[in-house]
Amino acid sequence: MNFEKLIRTVPGFPKEGILFRDITTLLKDGPAYKALIDELAESVKDEKIDVIVGPEARGFVIGAPLAYRLGVGFVPVRKPGKLPADVYEYSYELEYGSDCLQMHKDAIKPGMRVLIADDLLATGGTILACCKLVEQAGGEVAAIRFAFKITDVPQKPELERYNYQTLMTF
Ligand code: AMP
Repeated sequence: MNFEKLIRTVPGFPKEGILFRDITTLLKDGPAYKALIDELAESVKDEKIDVIVGPEARGFVIGAPLAYRLGVGFVPVRKPGKLPADVYEYSYELEYGSDCLQMHKDAIKPGMRVLIADDLLATGGTILACCKLVEQAGGEVAAIRFAFKITDVPQKPELERYNYQTLMTF
């Protein structure tokens, strides 16, 4: 399916110079949303995935239906202060300042094969933070899947260590 034409591009959001790729225009289209999840599921069918990890908030929109489709569990990665039990935490640098993500300590058992899913790959900072959280828990990052990749920003070279794919490139 041609998903690209269903993505809305909003120049100057959230600040000047950014070309924001808005997936809400794809998500509201039932057959397109279903086809997107089905294609992502097909791409990991040989990976023997035990559980899916997705960062808030758009990682939930991709990761949760994918988990349902594969019949595996879903683990949310969240900003600090949102998860109620004991957490692993990873802080990382942004262009301006830093960010931090957390995951429940008991979410992943050592040796589990984990799929990390998100909507869009930009620098890869968010997804690498998810990898660190999975690895702190003793899990194995078996695969990473994105709906889209944007090429306006350089990707972090560390991402090349992982088995990652995107369905489309902007
Ligand atoms: P990054 O950590 O740089 O790979 O980007 C993390 C998240 O920021 C992605 O999962 C997107 O949800 C969001 N994001 C970054 N750049 C854009 C963009 N140009 N348009 C829409 N979302 C973006």
